[in-house]
Order: sequence, then C-alpha cells, then structure tokens
Amino acid sequence: MKFSDNSDQAARYLRQAVPMMVKHKIVPNPLNYTLWYSYYSNVFPLLNEELDQTLKRYGTCPPDISESLFFRHISQLDNDNEKHLLHFQKAFSHLVDGLSDSMDHTVQQTSDFSQALMSNLNELGAYSIDDAMAPILNKLSANASAICSANTEFQGQLSAAQSEISALKTELENSKKEASTDPLTGLYNRRVFETMYHQYMEQSNQADEITLIMMDVDKFKAFNDTYGHLMGDQILKFIGQLLKRECNEPVIPVRLGGEEFALLCPQVKLEQGQFFAENIRRKLAAVPFSNKRTGERIPPVTASFGVTQKRANDNLNTMIERADQALYVAKEAGRNQVHVATP
Ligand code: GH3
Ligand code: MG
Ligand code: MG
Repeated sequence: MKFSDNSDQAARYLRQAVPMMVKHKIVPNPLNYTLWYSYYSNVFPLLNEELDQTLKRYGTCPPDISESLFFRHISQLDNDNEKHLLHFQKAFSHLVDGLSDSMDHTVQQTSDFSQALMSNLNELGAYSIDDAMAPILNKLSANASAICSANTEFQGQLSAAQSEISALKTELENSKKEASTDPLTGLYNRRVFETMYHQYMEQSNQADEITLIMMDVDKFKAFNDTYGHLMGDQILKFIGQLLKRECNEPVIPVRLGGEEFALLCPQVKLEQGQFFAENIRRKLAAVPFSNKRTGERIPPVTASFGVTQKRANDNLNTMIERADQALYVAKEAGRNQVHVATP
C-alpha cells in the first residue's frame, strides 16, 4: 500500500503541503489534500514531475488538471481492480482521519506566526523611521497583512473542507455497505460471499477445513401464492435475523438471491457443519407466524440444506455445485432436512 506513513510522518508531509496549497491558491478539498500530501510523501515520482511542470506553467494547479493527476497517479481506478480500490479507500480514510488534527495544528501555527509578525510591525511603528526604511517597512506590512488575510480565508476553506470530508466519509461508508448487503435481510450478498471465500483461501493453508452450507426455503412459491408476497418478504427478513443470531465468527451467512442462502464456515469440519445446519433447520421449523394485520395464523416455514466440505482441488464453483447437489437430494427426499455430500 502506498500510504503507509506513520502519523508523525503524515503530519510532516501535511505541514509542508498546506502552506504550499495556500501559496498556490489551491482549493482545500479532499482531492487536493491527497494530491499535495502525495507530492510531499514522494510516493508517485511521475505525479511530482507533472505537478512541478503544471505549477511552472500556470503558477497554480487548475482543478481539471488536479483531478486528472489524482485519477491517473493516485487512485488508478481505471484498472477496475477491486482489491486496489479497497486499499485506496482504506488509505484515503486513514489519511482523512489524520488530516483533521494535522490541519488544526498547521493552521494554528500559521496564524500565530502571522499575528506575531503583525504585532512586531506595529511595535516598529512606535519608533521614528528614516525615509529610506519607510517604503520597505510599508511593503513588509502589506505582505504581512496579505499573509494574515490569506490565512483567514484558508481557515474558512478548511472548515468547509472538513465538513465536506465528514460527508464524504459517511457517503463512502454507506456506499460500501450498500454494495455489500442485501437490503431486505441485511445479510451480506453474493459478491461478499465470493470475496470472503477468496480472502480466506489466501490467508489459510490448504489443510484448514472449510464447509459450505446451502439453504433453500421449501415451497416458497406456494407460500407467496397463499399468503402474499409481502408476507413472504417478512419470512425472508426473519430468516435473515435467525441466521445472524445463530452464526458467530468466522461463519458468514449470506443471501445468495431469492429464497436461497449460504453459510460459509471456515475452520468448521463437515460433521460440525451438518450439526450447525440441523440446528438452524430445527429452529426455523419450530416458529409459527401470524399476519399482524389480519391475525391469520401461518404455519412454520421450512428449509432444506446441502452441506459439503472443501476438497483439495476445489474452487468455489465446484464446491457450490456439490452443495447444490446435496441440497437437491434433501429436496427430493421430502424437504425440511439436511443432506451431506460425500467428502
Ligand atoms: P422448492 O421447495 O423446490 O425450493 O420450491 P420453491 O417454490 O421454494 O422454489 P421455486 O424456485 O419454484 O420458487 C422460488 C420462489 O421464491 C419463487 C419466488 O416468488 C420466491 N421468491 C424469491 N425471492 C423472493 C423475495 O424476495 N420475496 C418473496 N416474497 N418471494 C421471493
Ligand atoms: Mg430456490
Ligand atoms: Mg425454494
């Protein structure tokens, strides 16, 4: 990861970056902070080269060029690599977290310095000054005032940027959550399921057990036809809550789609997986429902389960296929049961 600086180092880069941004009238928004922070941390040499050339040419860095530099050198989102994007989001959050403190510190220092300069100049005003010195002192005084007003303006922009950063962080969190969860049940979706599987396979050695449980609600079409789709949705929601309650780390329940769920169970042996599925099956089959509006009583809903354990040459698809076949056997054998694939 590119941004692995410790916080002292990060603050140092930022203390260099902020005055430079003020000097070149760069708007303090998150993109520009990241850009200028990167400049001082010197992690993207080509970025520095281009930024130097831009400053030379324009005396500042126009917003469209900043954006282009950011996307080409820092985010590199064009390669569509999810892992890279996640790293970037992490680095960005890390950077933004460190920014607030460092910014406050830098602004305070600059402000103290400008005030000291102004007060020294005022003191000088009390002395008689010869004609040769007067224009120099006037110039000095004008420059100090300019620094002070630039500082005040920058401080205003900083607080606006800080609110923008907070809003962006919340948006980032929400969009990450939306992209990974199923809105009806609040469970993770298939994308997360696949990512978690691959992450687990990367971390663990092949000897580690991993069991997959597929779960499919029985005769759910008929349920919808009898009790209505809205009631069906309530059942799926309930199943989501039940699975969340029953699954502890590292077991991850996901809604694969429709009335199908999967439980990815790292470090779980086949027999444990079977026991686990049996427990959920039993609990679900024991809960009667009722329609809150009409008071109609609704008998328990059941589900069938297919369980399999990872084999040496498996990939995720072959494992899912085997769990699906086991699930099919459970359906054929009369539903509301768990079937285990031969290891
Ligand atoms: P089986 O026991 O063989 O699994 O029968 P089934 O009726 O459950 O299977 P089928 O695949 O024929 O139908 C699945 C049904 O699940 C059809 C669809 O209306 C229902 N379903 C899928 N997603 C949702 C949803 O989000 N909400 C509701 N209420 N129903 C859904
Ligand atoms: Mg189904
Ligand atoms: Mg079904």
